[in-house]
Amino acid sequence: MPKVKYLTRVDQVEAIPQEDRIWMKQVCARYKFRANTYYLSLIDWDDPDDPIRRIVIPERGELALWGRLDASNEADVTVMPGLEHKYRDTAVLLLNKVCGGYCRFCFRKRLFIDDNEEVVRDTTEQMAYIRAHPEITNVLLTGGDPLLLSTRRLRKVISALREIPQVRIIRIGSKMLAFNPYRVLDDPSLVELLDEYSKPKAHIYLMAQYNHPRELTGEGLRAADTLMKVGVVMCNQSPIIHGVNDDVETLATLMRELSFVGITPYYFFQCRPTAGNKPYEVALTKAWRVFDRARRMVSGLAQRARFVMSHASGKVEMLAEDDDFTYLRYHRARKPADEGRFMVMERDDTAYWLDDLVEVDLRRRVQAAPVSRAPEEVDQELRAEADSYGISAQEAPSDEELLGTDCAFPPL
Ligand code: SF4
Repeated sequence: MPKVKYLTRVDQVEAIPQEDRIWMKQVCARYKFRANTYYLSLIDWDDPDDPIRRIVIPERGELALWGRLDASNEADVTVMPGLEHKYRDTAVLLLNKVCGGYCRFCFRKRLFIDDNEEVVRDTTEQMAYIRAHPEITNVLLTGGDPLLLSTRRLRKVISALREIPQVRIIRIGSKMLAFNPYRVLDDPSLVELLDEYSKPKAHIYLMAQYNHPRELTGEGLRAADTLMKVGVVMCNQSPIIHGVNDDVETLATLMRELSFVGITPYYFFQCRPTAGNKPYEVALTKAWRVFDRARRMVSGLAQRARFVMSHASGKVEMLAEDDDFTYLRYHRARKPADEGRFMVMERDDTAYWLDDLVEVDLRRRVQAAPVSRAPEEVDQELRAEADSYGISAQEAPSDEELLGTDCAFPPL
């Protein structure tokens, strides 16, 4: 592969027809365009719905009024420029406002707007904050893509973090293995750096972002393998994106392939309601079903991911749904009181986000029920219910019977 070249204007992409470039320029005046020759070579230009194309090539629908630029209200957890502290044990450092390409559905696209000042170059004060907070054991380097920093700059940041004893995990959020794996393959000094600082008792994690199985190319896998061999722990996180991975087969293939190559599927996200993201959004119920059905088709190792909404109040995991309700739980919470909180919401198939859902008042339901009943009475009720479904309460249904039903969880 010749040297990878970065492109910042749609005019530079020969395969885009002239007539499309006019409206694309309008879109890009609002939300910037960036891609590179390696990633563009993965696109099947004969397919107007090609999923890789949807990831980086602008869509007219981005101009529709939809969502906020800071959909998860990161401003509210920013303790100083470039440093977020939302969950007790985790700090987030925004180091860079450039990526190997710009995902059209990016939830941090506000960083790419000129004059944005949320990113830091000199991290002295941020390191002092982390050092002064012994509860911070994890630091996520992000942006933008930290692997687009020079290796020299990255070394400064990583070595400074390794001087803070309580910081055991350094995570690097990066889509470079998908966008341009040559960043790893062509820079042995980057591999040496990660080798030096990924220690047996304090690992470096690379949080990759593969959205579609076709991004797992031979070069990408060689780069991932190179990193794993020096002790970097690999995980993957991806939103569920309309036209990219919102079908069961594609998502199951992605989960499966990631597990085959040793990358843990960690999170699948509900696409945040971010400005410009209308063409990429999938309703919550649909995204959950795609995730849940894909999960049932793959091995245990491939289905380790959770499906979550990264909401301003915390990471809210979707657990199940039935005809009437959606069942959620805080996987991580901003307020300690919410940690692990279980929520039952009225099911709404038009909802896209936590804020669109209405919580059921469980206390009122519980109070309305009899406070205590004789065990015989409960047994009788269970039997009557079992009878109404045509099964005896004494006989537990077999795995085959359970698999045949539309239950939200597969049997153990
Ligand atoms: S790699 Fe991440 S930060 Fe960069 S454009 Fe894509 S989603 Fe946004």
